[in-house]
Amino acid sequence: MRRMLRAETLAIHAGRAARIEGEPLNPPLVPASNFYDAGYAREQGSPGWAPLEAAIGALEGGTAIAFGSGMAAISAVLETLPSGAKVVGPSAGYAWTRSLLARHAQAGRIELVGVDTTDTAATLAACDGAALLYVETPSNPLVRIAELDALCAGAHERGAQVAVDGTFASPLLQRTLAQGADFAIQSATKFIGGHSDLMLGVVTSTAHAGALHHVRAQLGALPGALEAYLALRGLRTLPVRLEIAQRNAQVLARRLAQTHVVYYPGLPGDAGHERATRLMDGYGAMLAFEHADADEVCRRVRVITHAKSLGGVESLIERRAPGLLRLSVGCEHVEDLWDDLERAL
Ligand SMILES: *Cc1c(COP(=O)(O)O)cnc(C)c1O
Repeated sequence: MRRMLRAETLAIHAGRAARIEGEPLNPPLVPASNFYDAGYAREQGSPGWAPLEAAIGALEGGTAIAFGSGMAAISAVLETLPSGAKVVGPSAGYAWTRSLLARHAQAGRIELVGVDTTDTAATLAACDGAALLYVETPSNPLVRIAELDALCAGAHERGAQVAVDGTFASPLLQRTLAQGADFAIQSATKFIGGHSDLMLGVVTSTAHAGALHHVRAQLGALPGALEAYLALRGLRTLPVRLEIAQRNAQVLARRLAQTHVVYYPGLPGDAGHERATRLMDGYGAMLAFEHADADEVCRRVRVITHAKSLGGVESLIERRAPGLLRLSVGCEHVEDLWDDLERAL
């Protein structure tokens, strides 16, 4: 029955226990390291994480394994590779991911080839002999869109697995595994949690779940009980939060674009517009724009918050490069956001 339900419904219903009279509707917080007879949380997992993993697995279409952060999740994916494996990775994207890949390469654990993963032909040409193609889409900070279906098909033809960080889209806007990817990565710290109050990462896969589970036990990169509880609570409202946030983003992007260079796949003139329209179920709530005095804008905002991170109900702005601002659009009233931006610009 579950598989027939739509994503908005799964986000609310997946991961709940059987409907037994007197039992709570929501899976409880379970602070536990060990269990009668044999179980140990680091090795077997915990009933405190399992409902979150079940819910995200249902949304992504695979088996989800939760980690202590998005970076722990990404590290675990890289740990599944044999030593010396060739990895094709993004030349743009989340800075800590790129530095992690670079560190593995410097240590001789992987052979790293950097490519512009929005250039499908160049990316696939680099995949010959690769064990893994690592893609971040939509990408940080310019919200660029990779041609995920073609990349997955082409990488598989060349014998490479594909890992995709879809944090900017959340599992709701991008069917990463359905597009052919082998690993769907989420920093649940962002849109899934949605309230800037937890750190957690998730990898969903079909063939690699056992390996990831084992790596998690070895690295000890475990989610906290409270964090898993809060992330599932956040997931329940992801569809409604995302609907408002991306509607706000579309309005702000359109208005900003009249006077600024804006990067948002929901704009018809954006480089990623056609791909996002074809491959995603929405354009998301992340945008970037150019402004000569980016630091000053961050100082002037009053409703929007100058802070790192993204995906919460509160709108956040940050300078990502000289003259480039990234805006994570939240769920405030769009006219309050626009008034704030107009004044700050
Ligand atoms: C935040 C983020 C990460 C890292 O996640 P943490 O939970 O902070 O470890 C990875 N990828 C993207 C795209 C992110 O935005």
